[in-house]
Amino acid sequence: MISKSNIVTLFAVLLCTALLFGCTPSSTEDVASDVDTLALGDISDRFHAESEDDPALTEEKNTAELSSENKSDTKPLPKITIVEDMRPSLGHGPKGVAYQKYIMLHDTEGSADPHSVVSWWDSNGNLVAAHFVVGVDGVVVQCVPLDTIAHHAGFGNAGHNSLFDTPEDGRDDKLGTTSIGGAYPDYGMNSYSVGIEMVHIGGSGYYPEAQLNALDSLIAYIDAYYGFESKIIDHKAWRTSNSDTSAEFAEYLRNYQSHRTHS
Ligand SMILES: [Zn+2]
Repeated sequence: MISKSNIVTLFAVLLCTALLFGCTPSSTEDVASDVDTLALGDISDRFHAESEDDPALTEEKNTAELSSENKSDTKPLPKITIVEDMRPSLGHGPKGVAYQKYIMLHDTEGSADPHSVVSWWDSNGNLVAAHFVVGVDGVVVQCVPLDTIAHHAGFGNAGHNSLFDTPEDGRDDKLGTTSIGGAYPDYGMNSYSVGIEMVHIGGSGYYPEAQLNALDSLIAYIDAYYGFESKIIDHKAWRTSNSDTSAEFAEYLRNYQSHRTHS
């Protein structure tokens, strides 16, 4: 056990380090460039590099299964392979750590593999994309950097900029953005969130375990990247006329929101 004061100290260190991290573009680019086959421990070490000797911090890292030290009394590190397929045209402005609030989950409503999904996004002219696509086999493809805005949330219900505390502050270039009507005027969520698309057709009733396990790891990776837990929502929370995530994901969504894994 560690004291509350140590937990507060840990949080402060993580937040400060994360803020520094987000304000240094060269560092962020370095992370983005070597994200292939990136173990969570690798990026965790970047956040914890200044506090290796603090036993309280080590204990907290063990609890989070993010430490690569003291392996004798920790579970194996969760690992994730992220395949980069970056498409600069799908980025729409800066989204540093100070602006990160939500992880939004989507379904692709199609069966195409993640690379094909990314290619479609990059070729159809709408400039809409999520940061990540998770395939049914667990393959994770990233096409927009985490510190860059992607147009995955689109327009939300009137009043949702205020409800979700996602004001439109001019960082979003809004290229390709076209109004969808008076009931859905709010666009701020795109500037404060990471989008994850799961290859899934609503009503098909089955999210493979490999896909769900990959999503577990991806969320842990995003948490480690920022140094805090973003709120997990699905697309229809932002725009209530949407269907994704589909009904068969409901229990998984509740699990993600309560403890950040699907089961
Ligand atoms: Zn969606």
